[in-house]
Amino acid sequence: AVPPVSRQQAVQAIEEQFTLDKPLLESLSARFQELYDYGLANHGAEMQMIPSFVTGVPTGTEKGTYLALDLGGTNLRVCEVALDGNGTFTIKQEKYKVSDQLKTGPVNDLFNYMATSIDNFLTDFGTTSTEDVLHLGFTFSFPVEQSAIDRGHLIHWTKGFNCPDAPGKDVVQLLQDALDRKHIKVKCSALVNDTVGALLAHAYAAKGALISAIFGTGTNGAYLEDIRKIKKLKTAEGSISHMVVNTEWGGFDDERKALPVTIFDNKVDRESIRPRNHIFEKMISGMYLGEVARCVLLHLIDQLVLFQGFSSKLLNTQYGFDTAYMSAIEADKEDATSTSSPTRTVLVATMGIKEEHISAEDIETVRTVCRIVGTRAARLSAVAIAATMVQTGNVQSTGPNDDGVKVGMDGSVIEYYPHFEERMRGALRELIGEEGEKRVKIGLAKDGSGVGAALGALQAAKQL
Ligand code: ADP
Repeated sequence: AVPPVSRQQAVQAIEEQFTLDKPLLESLSARFQELYDYGLANHGAEMQMIPSFVTGVPTGTEKGTYLALDLGGTNLRVCEVALDGNGTFTIKQEKYKVSDQLKTGPVNDLFNYMATSIDNFLTDFGTTSTEDVLHLGFTFSFPVEQSAIDRGHLIHWTKGFNCPDAPGKDVVQLLQDALDRKHIKVKCSALVNDTVGALLAHAYAAKGALISAIFGTGTNGAYLEDIRKIKKLKTAEGSISHMVVNTEWGGFDDERKALPVTIFDNKVDRESIRPRNHIFEKMISGMYLGEVARCVLLHLIDQLVLFQGFSSKLLNTQYGFDTAYMSAIEADKEDATSTSSPTRTVLVATMGIKEEHISAEDIETVRTVCRIVGTRAARLSAVAIAATMVQTGNVQSTGPNDDGVKVGMDGSVIEYYPHFEERMRGALRELIGEEGEKRVKIGLAKDGSGVGAALGALQAAKQL
């Protein structure tokens, strides 16, 4: 028989497994540092530390009109970004559907379609640029081996794309050839990862930034690194002092030497598309937080301490409990006995738990589970930020006029999840002290794949 446990014992056991105390945070941060150094010196590391070949960040005074192309989300997006040199811009954009046939057919068909979409965009919207040739920044959100700001070879496809003749090819060349075949006067000048784009976009808007972090479907970060520390880059030129590095920190500690992975994380990981990969991301990002919480809730149900042991079809379904529901539950301030609290509404109306199975204690328990899972995510996120502050030598105040380090963040989790930033800051204080934490100036970095790519094209022209 199942040994009976009380609700309190069961919840406490969960809380213990998910708690990251200060010594643990510190050991994670130390491990982060090790893996930063390893990734900067070695190709093919678990945390890849990919050089972007972008050798500076905007100051907000940049001017000009640039195109941006974004492939990798649900749609293909074409934008024209006009930078006005004052941290602000105007943007025109259009989305184009990419059919399954194009996603899986010959790669030239896909790139011809992209060139045609750019042509259609220019026909429909015209352009405000007076240049002979328009410069374009290309956000291509798939794994590429980048070897110059305008050169990168596709490693493999993800997200339902699978043109068989594309891996190994330079995607900038593919796009340029397609544009040239159609005599479209556009030059693809830069290939920009979306996290790098977020850093450029925030640096432009905030008049300087050193770090970017994405907490959306997945998690990733980029920062401006001293070129001498990027040891694997053999081509470092004397005139270059810094380069933006795309960390791919979702792959932090895939060897699991430091992360306190619970059985709930293991279950989420085992049933995911790529098991034993990106465990850090699976403990933090929007795609997985709801799923971790769902596994915890089911465990409590199976111990018969929640909802009288009853579940629902949706709660039993993988990815059936969205991270957005956790946000709604964590924002709920109503009394647990209320018959109309947002938590009860999510459980009954959205999740299909029977009203008569939900007690006021159950409401409290569900809130506690969301708090526990959400708090761990925010504190793990702080490890990445703190490690990057240490890595860039930015923990100490520079004096009375210190204006800190600007960090651009993007993604639904940082934007909408209640208390995420405040919890992250709590852990930052434990890791880099109050002085260090105060130096972290967080701003929302909007539209890295549009404005960021345009700024990448501008930066490419400067670097010539
Ligand atoms: P992307 O990272 O794909 O550009 P988003 O930043 O919007 O897009 O992240 C989408 C992820 O955020 C999804 O996994 C979704 O479950 C989660 N999400 C959506 N809304 C919220 C919310 N209000 N609170 C927390 N997470 C959310």
